[in-house]
Amino acid sequence: MGPPRTPDRAVATEERHKLMKVWIDQDLCTGDGLCEEIAPAVFTLLDDGLAYVKEDSEVKNEPGGSGGMAAVPEDLEDSVVEASEECPGECIFIEQG
Ligand code: SF4
Repeated sequence: MGPPRTPDRAVATEERHKLMKVWIDQDLCTGDGLCEEIAPAVFTLLDDGLAYVKEDSEVKNEPGGSGGMAAVPEDLEDSVVEASEECPGECIFIEQG
């Protein structure tokens, strides 16, 4: 008899629910920093005085388009929605899934 076999692991669960994505139209950003105040893990102001989104602390500083889009961790979704509602430039855009 060989060594006891470890039970087969369940096929890796696809724990991939559709993440919310967020991006900013920097052309409309007033640079007031409200978004960063509400959700500093997702929004940051850069030296140009405009807000950009972050994903895993990596700033997506390509204005507009998919290069400027960040996936939002589930626990931050509410604050990202709040930021987009409060944003005076109305330039925080949310895409679901
Ligand atoms: S809240 Fe809106 S306008 Fe203000 S810094 Fe953030 S993205 Fe720009």
